[in-house]
Amino acid sequence: MKRLLCCIMALTMIGSATAFAAEPVDNSAIAEKALSEVTALYEDLYTITNAEAEVQNSTYDDMGNIIVDVVVSFDRTLKATCAEDMPYIQGLEIALTELTDPDEISAASAYIDAKKADLEDNYIGVAQDTYIELQVTVPIATARSNAAQAIGIDNIEYVGMNENVPAKELAPDSNQAMMEPGQAAILNITERMATPSTRASTINSVIKNYDRVRARDYARDWSCTNGSLYDHATCHNPEYTFYASNDCTNFVSQCLVYGGLPTDSKWKPYTEPWKTTGNAGNGIRQYLTNNGLFFHSTNEKEAFAGSIINWLNSDGTNAGHVGLVDQNDTATMTFCAHTRCRRSCPWTGEKVDFYIPYWDSYEGDWTK
Ligand SMILES: [Zn+2]
Repeated sequence: MKRLLCCIMALTMIGSATAFAAEPVDNSAIAEKALSEVTALYEDLYTITNAEAEVQNSTYDDMGNIIVDVVVSFDRTLKATCAEDMPYIQGLEIALTELTDPDEISAASAYIDAKKADLEDNYIGVAQDTYIELQVTVPIATARSNAAQAIGIDNIEYVGMNENVPAKELAPDSNQAMMEPGQAAILNITERMATPSTRASTINSVIKNYDRVRARDYARDWSCTNGSLYDHATCHNPEYTFYASNDCTNFVSQCLVYGGLPTDSKWKPYTEPWKTTGNAGNGIRQYLTNNGLFFHSTNEKEAFAGSIINWLNSDGTNAGHVGLVDQNDTATMTFCAHTRCRRSCPWTGEKVDFYIPYWDSYEGDWTK
């Protein structure tokens, strides 16, 4: 009898353990909650439409927490109705009023006019695609039936190229923080004017062939949101080789060629500058800067669509990864990239710098 009781107890325990493990977690409810938490970050500046969330995967970490991989997508339309509503533009305008030299005023005004035109034509009133890969952690102690309600923004991470970043860092900067780079940009212009012009000797007029909007369109056409490292049809233009796990620079080179930048003996499929970032000293970054086609910048406000975004390690050294900027409305920047695949994904948190063409084809003017 005693032995039978033992057996019944053991069976009961197995039964309850099985029931615990099998208790369903509503992954789609978790994804929807993550979507609402993330879109809320943008709602001060943007009207959000077409918001959707898709569960990619669900697993457990070593601690037994539930990890749900989610891709959220939505359209952002600036609430600003004119370029002057944007804090960055306001920062530029304030700095302009402090200039007295007619040449400086003229150069700063030209930069401001170009920024305003880019904003008015490409961003104000234009819905911008946004795709973000997220990782949601449901702590092991959370009641499974209540998981979606229990999680908040602190349970959500943005899946970056090199590392995960707290999703709350996706929130656009405060107005003050967006104004300050505007003032800094005008200072950069006047400082450059104080030194002898180097344009004639360093800038290569071949860059005037580069149509940055066409390059942007190619980047969007041949990228996706599934985070894949491997060859797949949506991201493999059959005219080119696809390098599994290592296609980032090959992809950016294709964007530049489609934008009209002519190949030459050094930069063509599949030379080192075509397919590597340049950590070994002979990559796309060195090719573009040494040939006077693109300049290096750490100011993300300068990096308009068609610029290259370059990932850095935390110590500032190059991480060996590049993508193409496809949106920059001065509040949010997004990029497209390969391996892993990203399309119109906001940049946030991760350390990066930029390579920007000397010629702004959209404005039909030099950028420096
Ligand atoms: Zn893809």
